[in-house]
Amino acid sequence: MPGKDVDLAVIGAGLSGCALVAALRRRDWQGTIQILEAGRGPGGRCATRRRRDDPLWRLDHGSPTLSFHAAPRGQLLELMTSLQQRGVVRVDDDPVVGLDHLGTAVEAPEHPLLQGPRWRGVPNMASVAEILLSDGAEGVDVGFGERIQSLSKVDGCWLLTGGVHAAKLILSGTLLAHPRSLAMLGWRDVPLRQAVPEGHDPVLDAALEWIAELNASIRWNLMLEFPAAEHDRLPRQIWLTPRAQSHFGVERMVIQVQQCNRIGLVIHGLDDGVPITPETQPELLKAQEQRLLSVLPELLRPWPALQRMVPDARSLGVMRWGAAQPLEQGMPTTLQWCPQANVGFCGDWIAGHGFGMAEGALQSALDLAESIDS
Ligand SMILES: Cc1cc2nc3c(=O)[nH]c(=O)nc-3n(C[C@H](O)[C@H](O)[C@H](O)COP(=O)(O)OP(=O)(O)OC[C@H]3O[C@@H](n4cnc5c(N)ncnc54)[C@H](O)[C@@H]3O)c2cc1C
Repeated sequence: MPGKDVDLAVIGAGLSGCALVAALRRRDWQGTIQILEAGRGPGGRCATRRRRDDPLWRLDHGSPTLSFHAAPRGQLLELMTSLQQRGVVRVDDDPVVGLDHLGTAVEAPEHPLLQGPRWRGVPNMASVAEILLSDGAEGVDVGFGERIQSLSKVDGCWLLTGGVHAAKLILSGTLLAHPRSLAMLGWRDVPLRQAVPEGHDPVLDAALEWIAELNASIRWNLMLEFPAAEHDRLPRQIWLTPRAQSHFGVERMVIQVQQCNRIGLVIHGLDDGVPITPETQPELLKAQEQRLLSVLPELLRPWPALQRMVPDARSLGVMRWGAAQPLEQGMPTTLQWCPQANVGFCGDWIAGHGFGMAEGALQSALDLAESIDS
């Protein structure tokens, strides 16, 4: 990417980064924007996996839905209504069932992600981030496959990989601001702290202190393809009861019927706490794949037609998801934008409720757009 100056750089094209850009443009904010995203496309944890060998295949391999703890209000309601009217989301009333530790289908357990209203991306989850990004497209450049490893400031401007100079910077994930990056990536210091010394911006100092309290949560999601078959109406989500989750090490399974009646299934495997480093990750991915495959027949007991097909199911590999888990109390909105350092934050980790959900990602983007634009 050639060197260039922009008014705003956004690290991350997940739901919050894309919603931020769309919200700024809706407010008629005219500045130039550069988005830098490590992945191959927009969506982050609300992305959809495609396959080179199979152009029709689409699998929501992270979040299968957009959950809200309560009915959205204000600007968030406006956003969801507009997305629904444009056919980008629909109310998610697909069946959700529970599974107990004996492998018996039961009522779905109570969970923050299931308690309020939900919407699904149409045709799939990635569509939501894609449309938000295209809404904000004018004056926006997006660099995919750009993983930012360090941050620095030169003459008051943010200097990013590829020679991008930005007056303002937004982080939509916590990696560059959280001490966990030190162990995982072997960095010497938190990149954002390295770029802005303590005492320069009291708001940033308070924000970094708040961020350091967050814990990371890991998921090992095994993606599977089942052959085409006639099947009765399958549930979209199968949530394990708390006892079943600790017995099987699995949070839930998500089913997505594909073109030609093939079935995509994602097993959301829980973290077992083994430390992850760049050296251990390849072996851990293999071990998690074997572990999740070994419990699959038991997990599918209530769906015998699917269970019979397990020997013919094809593993499409394991995706490791990692992100900061929100606290019960959200980050005060006054810490979302740090005016001296010209850096701000969006992302689901900013909201409270103790659980990362799409609602928090979208709300944080709307709040931040207001701060930047004021
Ligand atoms: C397995 C799973 C299941 C889930 N289920 C649900 C559910 O049922 N309901 C619900 O509402 N929510 C669910 N969620 C949570 C939901 O996916 C998130 O709340 C939402 O996607 C967060 O969006 P975000 O933009 O805040 O973060 P992200 O989607 O994580 O976006 C951050 C983006 O920044 C990029 N990035 C980070 N660091 C860098 C860097 N240094 N350089 C370049 N790019 C970088 C990342 O690649 C990513 O694309 C689930 C999440 C997972 C993983």
